[in-house]
Amino acid sequence: AKNCGKNNAKLYSSSLTMQIMSHIKLEVGLRKALQNNELYLLYQPQVDVPTTRIVGVEALIRWRHPEHGIIPPTEFIPLAEETGLIVPIGEWVLRTACHQACAWKRECERPIRMAVNLSARQFKDENLAQIVLAVLHDTGLDPSLLELELTEGTLMDNALATLATLEQLRGIGVFLSIDDFGTGYSSMSYLKRFDVRALKIDKSFISGLPQDSENAAITRAIIAMAHGLKMIVVAEGVETREQLDLLKHYGCDMAQGYLLGRPAPQDAISQMLACAGSS
Ligand code: C2E
Ligand code: CA
Ligand code: CA
Ligand code: CA
Repeated sequence: AKNCGKNNAKLYSSSLTMQIMSHIKLEVGLRKALQNNELYLLYQPQVDVPTTRIVGVEALIRWRHPEHGIIPPTEFIPLAEETGLIVPIGEWVLRTACHQACAWKRECERPIRMAVNLSARQFKDENLAQIVLAVLHDTGLDPSLLELELTEGTLMDNALATLATLEQLRGIGVFLSIDDFGTGYSSMSYLKRFDVRALKIDKSFISGLPQDSENAAITRAIIAMAHGLKMIVVAEGVETREQLDLLKHYGCDMAQGYLLGRPAPQDAISQMLACAGSS
């Protein structure tokens, strides 16, 4: 019966009314998702390339919809951004991730850095830095264990609110990294100005390696430039041993991808970290 419903929805999706209807339904659902505990986080390992030791994780949101099952972020984050719901959802993500990072810090011998994705829309909220500060205070997490992933678009957005927020975040002592690097446009002077710690090479450049010589050239160029600016490089979407070997050869600092670990629930990560609380 469920499949039938899906097919029907597809059949009528050309109708504008239906599109608007499902959009509104999704929005109503998303509003309730937060209070109904339907949102949850998975964590994907980020490893140090030379040793392949886990040094951090990235928090990735999921929505367990009561009827439609698990909805990936690509299908609801854009709506959350459009409606402004990303502000409360983003705060929940930050709080949940920082709380987990603090638990891992207590349970594990070595500290694990937590990376959290932030939308451009969140930077336009003049309270973002205050929210980050409050979350760090409430959870007790050391600011240096929190990394905020933003896109080139956010960094280059000259909105006053964004500029002020970036300055305030620097003052708090959290780290910034640029996500999907190479897919947008960013000026080198901005990377310096905002004290960006890391560039994350977009997975579209990594997926063709080692065969694709142009993507190999882009990857090497990004690594050289980043190191010249005293930034580190994280390769995204590493799926094969060959890719990892090549990245190691290029001097890439960190890597993330299915080869090293898929996004996983907190218990699975605790086990990978061999934490005290994971037995
Ligand atoms: P992203 O930040 O670029 O995250 C990386 C995406 O690549 C994740 O998809 C991850 O599951 C996937 N991935 C990881 N390793 C591999 C690999 O080896 N191969 C391939 N093909 N894919 C890999 P996911 O979890 O579906 O997230 C998609 C996007 O949704 C994220 O892209 C990010 O832009 C956004 N997102 C996720 N969680 C949040 C959040 O809490 N807040 C905000 N604002 N955006 C989020
Ligand atoms: Ca990211
Ligand atoms: Ca990315
Ligand atoms: Ca992406």
